[in-house]
Amino acid sequence: MELVSMPGQQAKGKVWLVGAGPGDVELLTLKAYRILKNADAVLYDALVSQDILDLIPDSAEKIAVGKRAGKHSAAQGDINQLLVTKAFTRNNVVRLKGGDPFIFGRGGEELQTLVAADIVFEVVPGITAASGTSAYAGIPLTHRDYAQGVTFITGHCQLASRPMDWQGYANANNTLVVYMGILSANIISEGLINAGRSPETPVAIVSNATTSSQQRFMGKLGELAQLAADPALQMPALMIIGEVVALADSLNWFDPVTAQQKTAQPQTDLDIAAKAR
Ligand code: SAH
Repeated sequence: MELVSMPGQQAKGKVWLVGAGPGDVELLTLKAYRILKNADAVLYDALVSQDILDLIPDSAEKIAVGKRAGKHSAAQGDINQLLVTKAFTRNNVVRLKGGDPFIFGRGGEELQTLVAADIVFEVVPGITAASGTSAYAGIPLTHRDYAQGVTFITGHCQLASRPMDWQGYANANNTLVVYMGILSANIISEGLINAGRSPETPVAIVSNATTSSQQRFMGKLGELAQLAADPALQMPALMIIGEVVALADSLNWFDPVTAQQKTAQPQTDLDIAAKAR
């Protein structure tokens, strides 16, 4: 990893590494909201929803440093450099990331850069995609009858040919949540089934979770690759694998259509703030 420093100089600003949550603007924390409102510059990822970007004051510089799976590494050094540069020229710099910055968000790497450059920072956690998806798709990640644990993994590592611990993930009493897994759906289902997980295990792929475009694709582990290849499936999408997925039909409460109507009629302060712009 490239470390950026400006020897002999003291940054005037501070950087807040902020989690924006999975999409629904009301899932932003109050702390994240307050910090965004005071921002002088905001560097944001492609995953941050438009409703949240609409909360950033006009006076703040908004910089898209968007990246999607597959294009990560090339841009990371530039993002690190930009963060340091902004901290030398602005007071309140926000690095805004989808979900939680410390879960598959490279937040740790960016903070290491700040430490090397002697820049002061704070971290504001966000609701990670697994929690947002779980809640809005009616799939509890643990349940005393079905799953005693939950594991978050990235499907992206598989593409980078790092070994996956299929044996460890194949435990039938554990829920598996796969981030960035759509392109490796085939490898994931094969790996788990070969390690002993039943092809009948219920699976869900949920796209645009917590937003009015949320879609759920339900099936069995043996047909994960077909589900992932559905032409209607949009990104971002998360996979949940495990017996808890069978609860989704009875616990499904979130109606994206109603959510859309709600966004069309401002109801909360956050809605009003977003709509006022
Ligand atoms: N730091 C983020 C994750 C970044 S990795 C977090 O904590 O949520 C990007 C992956 O997150 C996507 O490939 C997808 O698998 C998942 N993801 C993020 N937002 C999502 C959403 N609204 N719906 C479904 N999956 C989402």
